[in-house]
Amino acid sequence: MKKMIICAVLPFIINTAWSQRNNPLQQQNSLPPVPYSYDLYKKPVYDLENLQPILPKDIAPVQNIFIITLDGFRWQELFNGADSILISDEDFTPASATLKSMYWAPTPEERRKKLMPFFWSVIGADGQAYGNRFYDNKVNVANPYAMSYPGYNEMFTGLPDPEITSNKKIDNPNRNVLEYLNKMPLFENKVAVFTSWDVFPYILNRTRSGVLINSGYDTLANPALSREETLINKTEDGYIFERTHTRYDQLTFLVAKDYIRKYRPRVVYLGFGETDEFAHQGRYDLYLEQANQVDRMLANLWHLVQTTPGYAGNTSLIITTDHGRGRNNKWTSHGQFINGSSQTWLALMGPGLLPLGEIKETGQLYQQQIAQTIAQLLGEHFIFDLPPFF
Ligand SMILES: [Zn+2]
Repeated sequence: MKKMIICAVLPFIINTAWSQRNNPLQQQNSLPPVPYSYDLYKKPVYDLENLQPILPKDIAPVQNIFIITLDGFRWQELFNGADSILISDEDFTPASATLKSMYWAPTPEERRKKLMPFFWSVIGADGQAYGNRFYDNKVNVANPYAMSYPGYNEMFTGLPDPEITSNKKIDNPNRNVLEYLNKMPLFENKVAVFTSWDVFPYILNRTRSGVLINSGYDTLANPALSREETLINKTEDGYIFERTHTRYDQLTFLVAKDYIRKYRPRVVYLGFGETDEFAHQGRYDLYLEQANQVDRMLANLWHLVQTTPGYAGNTSLIITTDHGRGRNNKWTSHGQFINGSSQTWLALMGPGLLPLGEIKETGQLYQQQIAQTIAQLLGEHFIFDLPPFF
């Protein structure tokens, strides 16, 4: 009898503890807030309020959308520019004086403009930038892992999946918004993905989704290659001697730009990866330089949009990241047990979007809201698959 009671009560105790650990109301600052908790059977209970789109319901749709991510790029650098401790630390920033001459200034506003001039002079004025925690404006990932695959899954499928726990190259069972759009007649073969990191064909399930994905050191396959395409293939094949899982962002950008010019896709996703790579290597100097380079690429892309008929005045941008990172000397890493890893940021710009600039009021957004926002900006509604446990 006694044994039976213990058997009946023990799962309740375990599950209650699990549920409290994941309940945003019970959480201390050190734990990432999540918009779902767990029931007694360890099944996630989603807070549907947080699945609502970010933008007003009556927003005028645009024809095209470009989504850009900077892997593992912190909100701290986006909003404050170079960090005073990290840029002065010779272990993280060799030849610190040179880097300071480029990216240091007394105020956060001056520093961030030095680091990302296009972002702050154009998006900071004409767009919307969420996630400056100085103003208590927060963006978080809702998945508990704060790693890349779980993050990109959440961003594009609209739900955190507790079963996706690592960056392993496993085909994603969840349907994503790019695939959803690509299967609609209006967007068929008008969706294109270019990423530096070679795990995206699995995250976006290339086999099932049929979305064009050029990732890692994929070469361009086309019976009639242009001069630019031939040059890109030659560079990838002949001049990159040390191939890692992340292609140079500059190459990813060149491939994307060439494709955009030629085929005019309506939905483009550009995934840059080197910021995270340099951070893991503990190279704050290279991390800053890469953010600065991506800012240039963003400027270049926006200029292309503005000067291309069909895109001009009819294209929105979404710029974000997949996860945050630790603070101070933990900045090199991220994950479930590193404080700050769930903290991200989000920027939007385009016709119909109010030019609010940096959002300076209390607020909370989650990465999972991005999928529906992508669809909404195009005047569509993404019907996502609820996981079987929902
Ligand atoms: Zn990483």
